Amino acid sequence: MSDSDKWSINDMLVWDSHSGFESRPDARLNQLKTWRDAGVSYLSVNVGYDVRPWQNTVNTLASFRTQLAKMSDDYVLVKSVTDIDRARAEGKLAISFDIEGMESLNGNTDMVSLYYDLGVRQMLFAYNLNNRAGGGCHDKNVGLTDFGRDVIKHMNHVGMLVDCSHSAYSTTMDAMEISTDPVIFSHSNARALVDHERNIVDAQIKACAATGGVVGINGIGLFLGGTIDPAIFADHIVYVSDLVGPEYVGLGLDYADEEEAEDIADVFEANANFWPQTQYKDSIGGFMSPDKLPRVSELLTSRGFSATEIAGIMGKNFRRVAEQVWR
Ligand SMILES: [Zn+2]
Repeated sequence: MSDSDKWSINDMLVWDSHSGFESRPDARLNQLKTWRDAGVSYLSVNVGYDVRPWQNTVNTLASFRTQLAKMSDDYVLVKSVTDIDRARAEGKLAISFDIEGMESLNGNTDMVSLYYDLGVRQMLFAYNLNNRAGGGCHDKNVGLTDFGRDVIKHMNHVGMLVDCSHSAYSTTMDAMEISTDPVIFSHSNARALVDHERNIVDAQIKACAATGGVVGINGIGLFLGGTIDPAIFADHIVYVSDLVGPEYVGLGLDYADEEEAEDIADVFEANANFWPQTQYKDSIGGFMSPDKLPRVSELLTSRGFSATEIAGIMGKNFRRVAEQVWR
């Protein structure tokens, strides 16, 4: 590994399993330069969430696919891990899409394979509030509905990653029990360190690892404990690693730049029910940017992680799961 402040894109596969900027058709994808410049190899870009109607997801997919096609010197929409390896060799940032909340399916399980064909490679159940598929983390704790169970079957069939972030405890435990493929938390931190409902308890982390899945550590200050210090981010990695092993930890930065953060604040205000005051009375605490990852890597070295373990956490662990699940 390089000891310079910035990695070269060739040093290590870096897998960021979730972007935090707004999923809407007029979002400008030139902001992906932040990830590319930081040496990230693959980013899952969010194209929709339950806060907006399902048509927004379709329109955002249309826009993002068109924008990416026009920027093919720098970015490539991938279908497989082989595509990611090829993109990395060509110095391009590999992209696929994710959906936060199954209201994007509009109650129709056939939408799973349609979204898969359009580039969606992971989807979570409910964005903070309960929906037709199951429970959200800021709502009454409920398990999967029959619809939610049916969706998992379709996801397992097409090879879409089942993601448990943002969802209620019982929904996540049900999902991890019935999915025939490994299940991930794309962007969730340890609740034992920070008692926020968006974070996950030890039983969820253990169940995730038992499926062969990975927990992606989130870089939002509020979920880290109020600050975006890379040392605190490393604390969450160390915690999950001590609990289940370093091969079940990854990155899900949820990053949005300052301009985007202002837009997000407006959306928060207009849809306050999705972010209850009891959980969001404090500031969101900023977003840790991907250019801090070399510092995180140094911190992990100083805390006793081997180069192989760090390479796993930075990207190879999620790559392993995707290789197993995507078809
Ligand atoms: Zn999220």
